[in-house]
Amino acid sequence: MSRIIIIGAGPASYILTRKLASHDKPVCIFDHQVPWEKPCGGILAINVTSEFINIDDYPYPRKYYEGIHFITYDKECRFIRYNNPFYVVSRKDLSEYMRDKLMDHGASIIKEKVTKIYHYNDTWRVATDNKEYTADIIIGADGALSITRQAVMGSIPPLHRYIACGYYLKELFDNRCIVKFSDFPGYLWSMSCPYYATAGIIVQDQAINAKKLFSSVENFINEEFPSAEIAGRYTAYIPSASDPEFYNQPCAGENWMLLGDAAGHVEPLIGEGIYYALKSGELAAEAIISGDIQSYDKKWREAYGNKLITNASYKKTILNLANQFGPELYGAFLYNNLCTNFNTS
Ligand SMILES: Cc1cc2nc3c(=O)[nH]c(=O)nc-3n(C[C@H](O)[C@H](O)[C@H](O)COP(=O)(O)OP(=O)(O)OC[C@H]3O[C@@H](n4cnc5c(N)ncnc54)[C@H](O)[C@@H]3O)c2cc1C
Repeated sequence: MSRIIIIGAGPASYILTRKLASHDKPVCIFDHQVPWEKPCGGILAINVTSEFINIDDYPYPRKYYEGIHFITYDKECRFIRYNNPFYVVSRKDLSEYMRDKLMDHGASIIKEKVTKIYHYNDTWRVATDNKEYTADIIIGADGALSITRQAVMGSIPPLHRYIACGYYLKELFDNRCIVKFSDFPGYLWSMSCPYYATAGIIVQDQAINAKKLFSSVENFINEEFPSAEIAGRYTAYIPSASDPEFYNQPCAGENWMLLGDAAGHVEPLIGEGIYYALKSGELAAEAIISGDIQSYDKKWREAYGNKLITNASYKKTILNLANQFGPELYGAFLYNNLCTNFNTS
């Protein structure tokens, strides 16, 4: 039986491992952080709760939003009600939930950080600070800065990613999910998860310098929540293809696969990735069970590739237009996309 090592115990790994366990295919998972509060809005889109996480069986607190308050460039605030409201959860709770379910399915999670991966005599060597392990197949479910991706094809370049940073705020001071557009390729956002609130910025990587990123968020907090108390801050990356050609790259080879963020499978405009991580895990499991791991590439392209490609083309166009006619155009197009693509009423 092939020895399979998965790096990462986030959403992508969760469905993959569960499916493989139900076909008696054991795996070994490495994740040094789980369970952890990954920087994230924690929005579970409707397809997440309808296909993968039954919210009625989810034992942790969640918040429920009926729509988004958009603040546009002219400072107008408009509430857009969605036909399909969404839940917001804490990523630490979700991480704990997934870890416990995986353990119930007999998965072993080694709480160590993978520091090196290399190919040796037709096998993979996976090293941590303590030990070196051998695998026939490696699966990168290790997020936007994936070490597995680095080993098989190189990192996601800045052109194809957003940078996200912001602050955790102490109080649950507001029941709005706010998205604000300004003069940069991205958006500011704030939301309450069950235990705290977050305010942050998501912007094309390298479009704004680091100091200005945080000061934009601080101005946003001062304008919207002047009495908010800051509890911490974060910086993270989100894959965000700026050209449909990004998806020509394979996400599986003879003895490796990339899932979720490591594969770059995130909606390129708004940065929604939990659904794609879960779905990629499901499709990867089907490919492994069928004995043809490279069929994963065909499967994800059929399942959701068109949507990612279409939105990457759209992003490419609006980045070009914003370069020529002014950065505020990016926000205008994003607003239009968020209003029309989210099944609004
Ligand atoms: C600020 C922000 C807000 C977001 N908001 C939303 C949202 O509201 N809704 C949504 O759908 N998506 C959102 N996303 C995107 C979403 O978080 C990701 O797309 C999703 O978590 C991807 O799941 P994954 O399993 O591929 O990777 P991850 O969730 O990143 O999990 C990867 C795991 O791999 C582990 N790992 C990494 N490197 C190593 C290593 N070397 N050794 C061992 N383990 C390792 C990590 O500890 C982690 O647990 C947001 C992202 C950001 C940054």
